[in-house]
Amino acid sequence: MYAMRRWSARHSNTLKAIYHQIENALVKLYPRLEKIGLEKIEKPLMFIEKPAKRFLFDSQSCGQCTLGSTGMSCPMNCPKTIRNGPCGGVRANGKCEVKPEMDCVWVVAWEGTQNLKPEERAIQIVQPMLDWRLKGKSAWLRSAEQRIRNL
Ligand code: SF4
Repeated sequence: MYAMRRWSARHSNTLKAIYHQIENALVKLYPRLEKIGLEKIEKPLMFIEKPAKRFLFDSQSCGQCTLGSTGMSCPMNCPKTIRNGPCGGVRANGKCEVKPEMDCVWVVAWEGTQNLKPEERAIQIVQPMLDWRLKGKSAWLRSAEQRIRNL
């Protein structure tokens, strides 16, 4: 829902903190989840993750969530699916070149980032290319896994 997207960017600080708590909980549970089998966990987790993120961010479930770096604005709502934006076509009034009825997701991302503490702003980190094989998979599980591997 478009209005929720804007609301989420305005409340990026709170939502990012909640995200962090979810990630922390999954990191703690990770050894148990691994015992059960990550492939078995994926489906029930997505049962919660997908609708929650869809409602709040219009998330497209790419499986490689960048919301924490993009002011809680999902870049997959960009018609060009630009992961490092904006494109050169963003309008002077901040509207999208392709869909002038909506704000450029990167303008919203910039605004959402301004609501974060300076040390939490990561919008200038270059995002890797999208791995389409992960589409539809749990980004929460993936970020917990990444944190475990980097411990
Ligand atoms: S203006 Fe923004 S949302 Fe629209 S295509 Fe360009 S980067 Fe994507």
